[in-house]
Amino acid sequence: MSKTKSSESVKVVVRCRPMNDKEKASKFNLVVSVDVKLGQIMVRNPREASELPKVFTFDSVYDCNSKQIDLYDETFRPLVDSVLLGFNGTIFAYGQTGTGKTYTMEGVRNDPERRGVIPNSFEHIFTHISRSQNQQYLVRASYLEIYQEEIRDLLSKDQSHRLELRERPDTGVYVKDLSSFVTKSVREIEHVMNVGNQNRSVGATNMNEHSSRSHAIFVITVECSELGMDGENHIRVGKLNLVDLAGSERQAKTGAQGERLKEATKINLSLSALGNVISALVDGRSSHIPYRDSKLTRLLQDSLGGNARTVMVANIGPASYNVEETLTTLRYANRAKNIKNKPRINEDPKDALLREFQEEIARLKDQLEKRVGKKKKRRQRRRAGEGSDGEDLEDAETEDDDEEGGDYWREQQDKLEREKKAILDDHSLVADEKDRLLREKEKKMEDLRREKEVGEMLAAKVKAMESKLLVGGKNIVDHTNEQQRMLELRRQEIAEQKRREREMQQQMESRDEETLELKETYSSLQQEVDIKTKKLKKLFSKLQAVKAEIQDIQEAHIKERQEHEQTQNELTRELKLKHLIIENFIPLEEKNKILNRAFYDEEEECWKMKAITRIEDDHQMMSRPPSAVGYRRPLSHHAHIAMRMKPDMRYKAENILMLDMDLPARTTEEYQEPVIAPKVAAALEDALRDEDEIQVDASGFHSSLGPTLPASGSLKKPKSGRPRTSKKSSTPTSPFSPCSPGSPLYPQSRGLVPK
Ligand code: ADP
Ligand code: MG
Repeated sequence: MSKTKSSESVKVVVRCRPMNDKEKASKFNLVVSVDVKLGQIMVRNPREASELPKVFTFDSVYDCNSKQIDLYDETFRPLVDSVLLGFNGTIFAYGQTGTGKTYTMEGVRNDPERRGVIPNSFEHIFTHISRSQNQQYLVRASYLEIYQEEIRDLLSKDQSHRLELRERPDTGVYVKDLSSFVTKSVREIEHVMNVGNQNRSVGATNMNEHSSRSHAIFVITVECSELGMDGENHIRVGKLNLVDLAGSERQAKTGAQGERLKEATKINLSLSALGNVISALVDGRSSHIPYRDSKLTRLLQDSLGGNARTVMVANIGPASYNVEETLTTLRYANRAKNIKNKPRINEDPKDALLREFQEEIARLKDQLEKRVGKKKKRRQRRRAGEGSDGEDLEDAETEDDDEEGGDYWREQQDKLEREKKAILDDHSLVADEKDRLLREKEKKMEDLRREKEVGEMLAAKVKAMESKLLVGGKNIVDHTNEQQRMLELRRQEIAEQKRREREMQQQMESRDEETLELKETYSSLQQEVDIKTKKLKKLFSKLQAVKAEIQDIQEAHIKERQEHEQTQNELTRELKLKHLIIENFIPLEEKNKILNRAFYDEEEECWKMKAITRIEDDHQMMSRPPSAVGYRRPLSHHAHIAMRMKPDMRYKAENILMLDMDLPARTTEEYQEPVIAPKVAAALEDALRDEDEIQVDASGFHSSLGPTLPASGSLKKPKSGRPRTSKKSSTPTSPFSPCSPGSPLYPQSRGLVPK
């Protein structure tokens, strides 16, 4: 679906900043000269005045007097324009710390003259949208930072959270859970940028050091919907990455160990990986491009040799003490010129947010319409009903034709109010009936209110969503606008003219050397000798320059290799220590187990342990260690013994909580029999014995009644029901022995004999 386009090179421009006050005060020599017309940078060797300056040619170069707006119009505007057309675009700022990367990308915030690419692109994008016609736009922004190979979302509330990279076959690499904000104006997107910048400095202990070691990426996604020739809406999505890279100077890793070494090796990992990716792309021989080596290269994979237009700004300083770094930067930039990208318009991608917005708006509108439709129908129906029976509490006013939604609600509410009042005034109704009717009306009013709220909510939602979709063509006839546009057009033309001139100059220069003298005819031998000597000299100096270049590169290479070796040595030392620990303190068996479980997670780039499962791949059950049999976890022999010997909590490996219930404190006492004097006891015994004799008689009386009364059954009952009493009665010492039910003296008072 996307239009393919032939490949194009990464555009590389170089910007040299002016000498700063400190450099001026220290009277450093200027070693960089810039030929803007030819697009060349010349670097003199400050130590060797006789040495020829090194010359580098780029797409365009900017000297210390260059204006931000010139850079924008000549170099960045065409790129942002293509983003507005639906291409992906990336702008990198590369260079040593303090050479103007941030100045180029962001610039001075409150000074319109010195604003950088990012604010200028805001202006450009929203101006373009306001002038567009028959197009719908959705603009959103994200801001992230990569520091020591960790990605931080600069727009999220939780700044301690680290984000991860994910890959999808259809859309490529993306940052999971990265927040993005839909912005409707320059002011809003500027606010997003300011919030991100604040968060950037909040997370840093030393802002200068932090910014020189971290990469900041501001991402603007512009989605545009337009009616195509086929009568369908088509969406184009352009993504603009604005990257302020970490300082390119070498970070010293010497003497670092352990955590510090790990940190040091991570600091510029992304940057060296970027260099390796560029080398691999330019080399042409290597089929493998090491994008996966760092977060930055993975995230910007498309910008390097993929579907994007890319501009790289190499920033350099002019002073002599920076000459090494300046040359490194220029060589780096020189290599990047040869990267070939294959940009294409991203048409109708699956993840276009604009499409989702449009569909959601359509759905909400549909819902809203249905509600309005229902209302109207209901009203018409009611009106028809009123016409037929003619008697209603309604006033004639409500009959007025008014299609406005707001009026409809008011009208309905008034009507219900009136009905309620009428019920209240109607004295003929019974109180209950009145109550019921009133409740009914109130419920109706409540329903009406709720319905109205839902309708309003829907309408508000539609409005909010629609406001996010930007449409232009409002002030297209504005006179000042028109003038401004002409001015911009002129500026663009001039920029284009300059570019063409430069190209022509560059071409002429190279042709000069190649062909000029081939065609030449010599009038005399002497002349030929002269001219050829001149040419020889020129070529010789060129040869010398190339030789010097080769030597420089070799030196740089050796230095880099030495650094790598040093890092490797330190890492090996570190590794040997780990080995020592493992070999001496970890049982072989355990080590093998760990080795079997460990696996490398490519996605997160770290080693992980497989979860322990009961049945391993070789179908072996995990066995319990002998010291854990009967217990939940292994116990030492000493603990076993100690646990058995004394109930000490210290050796109880489990269930150390005492969960037995505590008994409540006792509030009663044991029963003590009263002490009775022997005399009294004897008297009582006598008395009781007498009664027993009487009872013998009574039982005879009882048994005579036996067949008529189920006495034994009914007599047993109280005995079994109150065993204590019976027990007491049997104790000879009890003073209140209850009378036997069979007693003839009290046969009825006990109530035990059924009547
Ligand atoms: P970097 O981000 O590369 O570390 P900065 O952008 O912070 O460097 O620039 C360092 C200083 O140099 C800043 O004070 C900036 O204003 C100044 N500077 C850089 N480039 C220019 C330039 N082209 N013109 C004027 N001042 C500049
Ligand atoms: Mg900076």
